[in-house]
Amino acid sequence: MQTRTEPCAWVGCLGCYNNGELVGEWLDVEGVRDLDSTGLTEGGRCVRCGAEEFDVMDVEGIRHPGGHYFSPASFVETVDAFADIPDHIPHAAVVAWLDNQHGDLDALANIEDRYQGHWDTFRDYSDERAEEMFGSELASGSPLARYFDWGAYADDIRHDYTVFNASDYGDIKEHGVFVFTLVESG
Ligand SMILES: [Zn+2]
Repeated sequence: MQTRTEPCAWVGCLGCYNNGELVGEWLDVEGVRDLDSTGLTEGGRCVRCGAEEFDVMDVEGIRHPGGHYFSPASFVETVDAFADIPDHIPHAAVVAWLDNQHGDLDALANIEDRYQGHWDTFRDYSDERAEEMFGSELASGSPLARYFDWGAYADDIRHDYTVFNASDYGDIKEHGVFVFTLVESG
């Protein structure tokens, strides 16, 4: 099991930053949602310099998809969107999918339908699909399985899927691939 760190962000004042001073702190999502409650701001303004603009300068427990600028508002929006994702979809898979969807959080609405799991290889996934498709007579150990072209089947269905190397998206070293379907299932 992966360890899930609560998402948090180092939020700093841009006004202070531009004055060569690093003013900010690590906050959980509730703190980022309401900077006044943290003492960083009063009435939305930096207590040090009065600036209204704050920036997320570092994050933990969440990764911003698409490499976009992470404002406090978009951090909160992203954490909220991630919170609705069912637990069986790994965080890294969500990031991969969002990356592919250019960071569009609306794309998370159908992620549960699209996500086909975490597999050692795409071939492992396609083998399982073939067995589902062509019945238990194809299951490993059956004589028929020897005559079935598993590789050709994998090549045939590959274009209906998008496949991500887990190691490209995990915070920790992940193995295998995340498989998503590009076509509506059912
Ligand atoms: Zn400031």
